[in-house]
Amino acid sequence: MRVLVTGGAGFIGSHLCDALLARGDNVVCVDNMVTGSASNIAHLKNDPRFEFVMQDVNLPYDVGRVEYVFHFASPASPVDYMEHGIATLQAGSLGSFHSLELARKYSVKYLLASTSECYGDPLQHPQKETYWGNVNPVGPRSVYDEAKRFAEAATMAYLRYHRTDTHIVRIFNTYGPRLQLNDGRVISNFMKQALKGEALTVYGDGTQTRSFCYVADEVEGILRLGASDIHDPVNIGNPNEFTMLDCAQMVLKVTGSKSRIVFKPLPQDDPRQRCPDITKAREHLGWEPKINLEAGLKLSMDYFQKAIAALGEPVAVRG
Ligand code: UDP
Repeated sequence: MRVLVTGGAGFIGSHLCDALLARGDNVVCVDNMVTGSASNIAHLKNDPRFEFVMQDVNLPYDVGRVEYVFHFASPASPVDYMEHGIATLQAGSLGSFHSLELARKYSVKYLLASTSECYGDPLQHPQKETYWGNVNPVGPRSVYDEAKRFAEAATMAYLRYHRTDTHIVRIFNTYGPRLQLNDGRVISNFMKQALKGEALTVYGDGTQTRSFCYVADEVEGILRLGASDIHDPVNIGNPNEFTMLDCAQMVLKVTGSKSRIVFKPLPQDDPRQRCPDITKAREHLGWEPKINLEAGLKLSMDYFQKAIAALGEPVAVRG
């Protein structure tokens, strides 16, 4: 198959490109490199089955006939999507329409990368796919949350009106190699701080929770969903829930760092808790994550050490 991955130079997108190539597909990666990174796809440069197209998905485009469309293009970390707020709204709206149009034009399957942010600051816990969420439509996170909610609505509309064969994955916090050092996410911040011997910055009192999925598990779940006949959204995430203080302790343990923990203000509308109910993925896709946080952080150590070394800054801890 010739497969299109928008956002293929991003964190999850680039791992998806790898997995598709590994199963024998040809991959067209479309990215405008705003938050994507050349280093994420550098190892694919000489692979004749991999094509890179520098393109903003918010503008109309066509890459020729493809047999599957994965729409992953969007800034995704809170720091990135708040910096690129308008482009993020466009990636979920215009970007979704342009990629959906390609799937309709070529009559092929489509998979939207959606997000646990659709649940906002959830009042239901853990979150099932049937929960409609608690999103502040005018808060600073709305540029991402509402863009993805709109993208889900557009995807369902193409299913209903054009009979496009669509899928929607709701991705929960994911980490692993290629998580950008400077994207402000908690795992990249803590790993960088721990390895550099700097204080770990816990926002608020650190009792808020997240559930972290290792990227290889995430991609496996996405591929299973993409091969299924499920059109409604499916949560793919790791249901092991951690407070941010637990997470900081885990990073200190895995890195062997002696860094302190300091407390910083909690960002506005920061969700109190987040944990996927993955019953649907378990029952219908036979999927569940295999790699726990400790194991996943160990698997990520080498990447983070090299990424820090590439900055030319000292690494305090060599794991
Ligand atoms: N967080 C933190 N310290 C940091 C970065 C983030 O305590 O240096 C917290 C943040 O307030 C949130 C959680 O970690 O409660 C996850 O934040 P992240 O930006 O990784 O993703 P989110 O789940 O909020 O989209």
